[in-house]
Amino acid sequence: MRDARLDELAENLAAVRAEIPDGVGLVAVSKTWPAADVLRLASLGVTDFGESYAQEAVPKAAQVAEAGVAVRWHHVGQIQRNKARQIAGYADVVQSIDRLDVCTAVARAARRAGRVLDALIQVRFDTDRGRGGCGPGEVEGLAECVDDSVGLTLRGLMTVAPPGVDPAPVFRELAALGASLVAEEYLARPWLSMGMSGDLAAAIREGATHVRVGTALFGSRTPPSG
Ligand SMILES: *Cc1c(COP(=O)(O)O)cnc(C)c1O
Repeated sequence: MRDARLDELAENLAAVRAEIPDGVGLVAVSKTWPAADVLRLASLGVTDFGESYAQEAVPKAAQVAEAGVAVRWHHVGQIQRNKARQIAGYADVVQSIDRLDVCTAVARAARRAGRVLDALIQVRFDTDRGRGGCGPGEVEGLAECVDDSVGLTLRGLMTVAPPGVDPAPVFRELAALGASLVAEEYLARPWLSMGMSGDLAAAIREGATHVRVGTALFGSRTPPSG
């Protein structure tokens, strides 16, 4: 039977892939979309998926695993300490470490689960704490916390560009912070997770190693009315 949704996802994926050079990782942000769509994209070769809410991600990851499909899950949403256990249970990569208490809670949960998660520090370059992220001055302390944690492996940095401004300077600042982690010998080659559907090209120009794409792959999260 013809699967119209598979055709749609394949078309969107081809358009997104055309913008991403080899060596830049694509994380398909599947929040609000069902496990069936994750399985469709996995069948098209997508290996990495991102989720924002643990309560949505845990059952979705279980459904994908039950289908016998192995993918890598990235937690990209803000972390409440009381969700650390769920996150450490489903995620392979946690991209949104932004406070010391979050670092220690996720690290402890990972260790208890016998897991080691790849970890990114989320940085914000505006004053709006609403979307999460630490200030640039807090990166060093968080890098030390992640680096010292048995359950976490420090990989690099993540940011979400604030809406309505030119994102390029923000991405450049993240790359500069990545370079300082190299200078301080935390990492040889930091991951820079930056760029979403609306600012993919700018992020790639500024050196993104990973882009997080939702809408451009799956469609608009709010179904059109009428
Ligand atoms: C939802 C989300 C994305 C994907 O955003 P799109 O604009 O739909 O591509 C990327 N990163 C984070 C942290 C998100 O919450």
